[in-house]
Amino acid sequence: MRVTFLGTGTSQGVPVVACGCDVCVNGTKKDHRLRTSILIEVENTFINVDAGPDFRYQMLREKVKRLDAILITHCHKDHIAGLDDVRSFNYLLKKPMDIYAIPRDQKAIINEFAYAFGEERYPGVPSFNMYTIGHEIFTVNGLKITPLPALHMKMEVLGFRLGDFSYVTDTNYIPGATLALMMGSKVVVLNALRRRKHASHYNLEEAVKVLEFLRPEQAYITHISHLMGFHEEVNRELPSFIRLAYDGLTLEL
Ligand SMILES: [Zn+2]
Ligand SMILES: [Zn+2]
Repeated sequence: MRVTFLGTGTSQGVPVVACGCDVCVNGTKKDHRLRTSILIEVENTFINVDAGPDFRYQMLREKVKRLDAILITHCHKDHIAGLDDVRSFNYLLKKPMDIYAIPRDQKAIINEFAYAFGEERYPGVPSFNMYTIGHEIFTVNGLKITPLPALHMKMEVLGFRLGDFSYVTDTNYIPGATLALMMGSKVVVLNALRRRKHASHYNLEEAVKVLEFLRPEQAYITHISHLMGFHEEVNRELPSFIRLAYDGLTLEL
């Protein structure tokens, strides 16, 4: 399995538009973060988790030629805004894009992209096949995927486990039953926004605590804001099995 971090930034990305802070102005390549998403490649199946506003550029940057499915963690704009750009895959693969989402998120996608779901669809609009998921294990091209329910303040979000890899973003609370599902993963990816506490995201300290409890071989932090500080400086403070992820980072599992 190969995992590529397409984006590791919070909803505004880093740098933040018009921000004059040190990280936004003087950050190097690893401080530049597009909106959070990953690409998973396993046995010639290509799966995105989320398709935020940077989806188009992320597909170009990583030269993605084929995409079989998109799993949706939750319907916030920074995770679904790029779905219109599945059009090239529709055209090349001659089929709708398979979207796996809970009913609430399907409704949000249908509202957001109403023109793609209407009775009289304009030629060239994106096309989607919606698959309903919940807390039960599901398969994509025969690959077993375990949903990892968590809370984003009061909103339920889904993370996903494939084999030894667990990915959870946009949470500030992972229930015990989900931690049990994540146990034994070799690699865990978890969100942390910044150092200060936040209402709907783990801060760095909280994420580190969860990761120390799960104690995978390797862990990565994603969905990072400009307030986290410089990539290299934060990395130096972290336990050696935890690193901040960065855009373009690829893991082989
Ligand atoms: Zn988000
Ligand atoms: Zn969110």
